[in-house]
Amino acid sequence: NGVINHQDIPNLTKYFPLCMQNLQKSLQMESHLRHGGRMQYGLFLKGIGVSLEESLLFWKKAFSKKFNDDQFQKGYAYNIRHSYGMEGKRTNYSPFSCSKIIMTNPPSTGDHHGCPFRHASTTVLEKMLYQTGINKNHVPEICSLAKLGHYQLACTKMLTIFTNANEEEVENVIHPNRYFDQSYPESE
Ligand code: SF4
Repeated sequence: NGVINHQDIPNLTKYFPLCMQNLQKSLQMESHLRHGGRMQYGLFLKGIGVSLEESLLFWKKAFSKKFNDDQFQKGYAYNIRHSYGMEGKRTNYSPFSCSKIIMTNPPSTGDHHGCPFRHASTTVLEKMLYQTGINKNHVPEICSLAKLGHYQLACTKMLTIFTNANEEEVENVIHPNRYFDQSYPESE
């Protein structure tokens, strides 16, 4: 992956899987994300090539309606540096896989992390899918895959539709960053 500047991120969201599109949208609406969302989305962004410096600029700007510079530095900057392995035990954290997102730490009210195919109600999932601009005819099939518990197949179906690919050309989605690699034209 190449270098991605913080200003590029909103324009790239159409290449993101639904979980990350939802986190970006929620961040824009609320000028904040709770811890689970910051971890899931922040590590994903790191995985697509956003540097620590750009990440700090991205989150600071995204939170600026609610937090001034000082509050941001005190409340959030440490955690972001930490997730890049620059603080504490200097663990270099990896972006979460789909199974981790689906199986652990389910979202509570007010959280936006998780996998929408697993954690959103059908009504909310439908709404999220419509907002992506997907051809409406595909929505019932994706929702029924999700309802049957085939969360990653539902996600793979969405990827197939967005990339206009044949089913056999698309890898089953097992990681949000692999979804991005397959959907973003410049990453191949
Ligand atoms: Fe995200 Fe994976 Fe769920 Fe797709 S299947 S929305 S990439 S967690």
